[in-house]
Amino acid sequence: MTAVVLSGRELAAAIRTETAERAAALAAAGTTVKLAVVVATADESSAWYVRSIAKAAAKVGIGCDVVDLGADATPDAIRAALAGLSADGAVHGIILQTPLPAGAVPEELAGAIAFGKDVDGANPLSLGRLAAGLPAFAPATAAAVVAILDHHGIELTGRHVAVVGRSTVVGKPAAHLLLDRNATVTVCHSRTKDLAAITASADVVVAAAGRPGLITAAHVAPGATVIDVGTNPTEDGGLVGDVAADEVAQIAGALTPVPGGVGPVTTALLLHHTTSAATP
Ligand code: NAP
Repeated sequence: MTAVVLSGRELAAAIRTETAERAAALAAAGTTVKLAVVVATADESSAWYVRSIAKAAAKVGIGCDVVDLGADATPDAIRAALAGLSADGAVHGIILQTPLPAGAVPEELAGAIAFGKDVDGANPLSLGRLAAGLPAFAPATAAAVVAILDHHGIELTGRHVAVVGRSTVVGKPAAHLLLDRNATVTVCHSRTKDLAAITASADVVVAAAGRPGLITAAHVAPGATVIDVGTNPTEDGGLVGDVAADEVAQIAGALTPVPGGVGPVTTALLLHHTTSAATP
């Protein structure tokens, strides 16, 4: 058996089309939608990601201001920048790019992002509301996991989903969104004993550990769906996921590619959230 490829590209294109329509309608009504990205790092892969967001924003008619505070920015300076943007009526969405300088705690600082502008669900208030089943922007990557499953018609109610990773940006919010969809969710992490036994008992595996090749054929039940969130740069400038794709494709029923799976949907949803934030 070879797994069906769960591409994210068509879904991302559909989300972009709707986002561009929303941004155009808002512009016609006098609102230019704007996203602000706060950066305090010289990290090259972060810079690449920020450039790709700015490019994607321009394509759908959303402005993108990059506020670069420098790699030696203090937590107070980062907090003040986030508070200033939160109070700025011309800014509708705010993201705080990571990594941050040593001593700066992303979850702590993201508390300074106004809840209504927290389009990547970084403010702990957003995660708390998600956990309580209340409306909030979910982190775009976690939302992309569920959106890709929905797009490809993968049933969630009553099914066992193993989420590998418990970060506040991916694993935890994904687990809450999946619980909300009536899945039975097991959250695994680096201290989990016998990971393979747990993931191989799941109908759906969501791999978000940032460990290339962590999920092998032995981790997957025949016919299961595998969502590969991992984006791990390779030495030759490429990108691989957390799933050993060649061998897992021989046993899984469906598998997202890397690149071209969760990634494009994440960026599209981030911009879609920004138009939601700008909508009165
Ligand atoms: P993170 O903050 O480093 O968290 C990784 C999580 O994986 C942690 O909870 C860690 O457990 C767990 N883990 C690490 N090694 C493990 C192992 N051997 N077995 C089981 N669990 C293990 O990373 P993140 O920010 O959540 O990102 C995860 C991956 O998703 C990365 O590759 C990242 O680049 C990618 N990502 C992709 C997108 C996208 O748009 N496609 C967006 C965001 C992130 P502990 O908690 O015990 O340490």
